[in-house]
Amino acid sequence: MSAKLIDGKKIAEQIQDEIKKEAELLKTEKRITPGLAVVLVGQNPASEIYVSYKEKACKRLGFYSEKHQLDEKSRTEEVFDLVKKLNGDKKIHGVLVQLPLPKQINQEKIINAVHPDKDVDGFLPMSLGNLVLGRDGFVPCTPQGIIELLKREKIEIEGKRAVVVGRSISVGRPLSFLLLHNHATVTICHSKTVNLAEVTRQADILAVAIGRPKFITGEMIKKGAVVIDIGVNRLEGKLCGDVDFDSAEERAGMITPVPGGVGPMTIAMLMKNTLKAAGMAHS
Ligand code: NAP
Repeated sequence: MSAKLIDGKKIAEQIQDEIKKEAELLKTEKRITPGLAVVLVGQNPASEIYVSYKEKACKRLGFYSEKHQLDEKSRTEEVFDLVKKLNGDKKIHGVLVQLPLPKQINQEKIINAVHPDKDVDGFLPMSLGNLVLGRDGFVPCTPQGIIELLKREKIEIEGKRAVVVGRSISVGRPLSFLLLHNHATVTICHSKTVNLAEVTRQADILAVAIGRPKFITGEMIKKGAVVIDIGVNRLEGKLCGDVDFDSAEERAGMITPVPGGVGPMTIAMLMKNTLKAAGMAHS
């Protein structure tokens, strides 16, 4: 059996087309152009690529965008002051600080400096609290994109056994809550999980975000499962996920590729959050 590919790139393009139409409406009806500011500190090559994708998406959708590149040696206060300035800028509806930040910077202080109405990354404690409570708010882009992917592929979540491997604040944990809100029975695994394969083999929906190339192999997957590979790793100069695609596709019913799966959905959800922030700004 060879699994059906979930084409995240194609679905993300459809979503971007929908967002573009809504943004045009916002422009004609309320004279608002959604604006996103990205703060990048230092020269992390991966971060620079991600920021370029975000700028490209803004351009495609007719959003206003600003990139603020700060020196690798910047101090917490400089980044903090910039975020505060962007919080007060009317052209900007979403403020995103590209992570990770250099070691000398207090990352928590910077994340918490973003105004709650501009928290398009959804990383503020308030946004994460709303997510846990099931209230409206900004939802982190990658987990939001995964739920959207499942829904658009008409994959039933309710009543399914979902296993999330990885418990990061930006991916694993928020994804687990979203799956729970959609009535899956959720298990969260991490580096201290004993007999991981025993748990993953029970998953109808298996989502993996651990940052370890090709870690989840075919024998760890239940036959016919939906496999969502969130990992982005570089192995021998090539991009690959946290799932060993070749052995996994022999067992899975559906699977996301890397690249072209979850990544484009993350960008699309960032644009969706920016549009939402712009809509809120004057409503
Ligand atoms: P992270 O903050 O480093 O967290 C990794 C998680 O994986 C931790 O919870 C860790 O457990 C767990 N883990 C590590 N080794 C494990 C093992 N052997 N068995 C089970 N669990 C293990 O990573 P992240 O930010 O969530 O990112 C994960 C991956 O997703 C990375 O490759 C990243 O590049 C990718 N990513 C992709 C997108 C996208 O848009 N496609 C977005 C974000 C991230 P402990 O908590 O016990 O340490």
